[in-house]
Amino acid sequence: MKISAAVCRDTGQPLTIEVLDLDDPRPNEVLVRVVACGVCHTDIGIQRLVPKPIVLGHEGSGIVERVGSAVTKVKVGDRVVLTFGSCGVCASCVEGEPAYCHDMRRLQFSGARADGSPTMRQGASPVHGAFFQQSAFATYALATERNVVPVGSDVPLELLGPLGCGVQTGAGAVINALAVRTGASLAVFGVGSVGLSAVMAARIVGATTIIAVDVNPVRLETARSLGATHAIDARSGDVTARIQEITAGGANFSLEASGVETSFNAAVECLAIRGTCGFVTAPRQGQAFPFSLAPILLRGRRLMGILEGSSVPDRFIPRLIELYRQGRFPMDRLATYYPFADINRAMDDSHYGRAIKPILRM
Ligand SMILES: [Zn+2]
Ligand SMILES: [Zn+2]
Repeated sequence: MKISAAVCRDTGQPLTIEVLDLDDPRPNEVLVRVVACGVCHTDIGIQRLVPKPIVLGHEGSGIVERVGSAVTKVKVGDRVVLTFGSCGVCASCVEGEPAYCHDMRRLQFSGARADGSPTMRQGASPVHGAFFQQSAFATYALATERNVVPVGSDVPLELLGPLGCGVQTGAGAVINALAVRTGASLAVFGVGSVGLSAVMAARIVGATTIIAVDVNPVRLETARSLGATHAIDARSGDVTARIQEITAGGANFSLEASGVETSFNAAVECLAIRGTCGFVTAPRQGQAFPFSLAPILLRGRRLMGILEGSSVPDRFIPRLIELYRQGRFPMDRLATYYPFADINRAMDDSHYGRAIKPILRM
């Protein structure tokens, strides 16, 4: 079928909205009419690493238009959130950890289905799709049965796409991966959409000290209003010492969500003895970690790499929606809406921190 999609033809260049042909769904696939799609930093940062031309977008939400012959999870007309792809048969998937699927890289970033076939083309030339098994910067997206999550009809569908990546990453890091305890202290480095989701989750689980660290005063203020008990401007002196002082000896948990390498060290150094630092970011490829091991090893500290909030989307996303419904997880506070035609402005606003979570309305 004909669709309109935002095509990335060159790294860092504006996306162009073009008419493409999208395949019919195969037996395990679901065709979704995209209602909205969030913009995640990965849509920008990944451009140099994926084959092009490609249709990005991996926080889609929409309505099921058609289903493949083997699909039983959803039916035509169902409202769904699209999330990351996973294989379902590797050791991680069978052990209930799809975020660590052994096929993670290929399923999100290869620009094709798991079997290597393209999902979309323009005339005779293939265009890479299947980004996060969705490529949702488009009017229609082809997902697999595994990465569609059915949602109810009493919440605004256009708000929910970011649950599929950025929001479940931050909330899941706190709830699933770090398993922050009631009464614990947590320092969150970088309070964009991931960090703010972590702050909201920390309040839900009953962390008593929630410290937000950022360089953007508006975001720090937002963090406070969403549950942070302290806000630290990272440019205002010794962040580590300040956190040690607030927590009387170090934070039980920290989360590095800024992607700024100077904060990697602080995220580890601010920890208490036996504290755990979760990373949802990583240094650029080939770049060494800036911290030394002795203060980590000799204080029983732990470092944890976290993907997609270690979440099982079919279980975790409905739980976050229920918390939103109850007013305990106000993720609507993160959203700024843009018409699809303004996708390049939305990408820029995300990149330069002018919007916390841009969401495109298709
Ligand atoms: Zn797998
Ligand atoms: Zn993402």
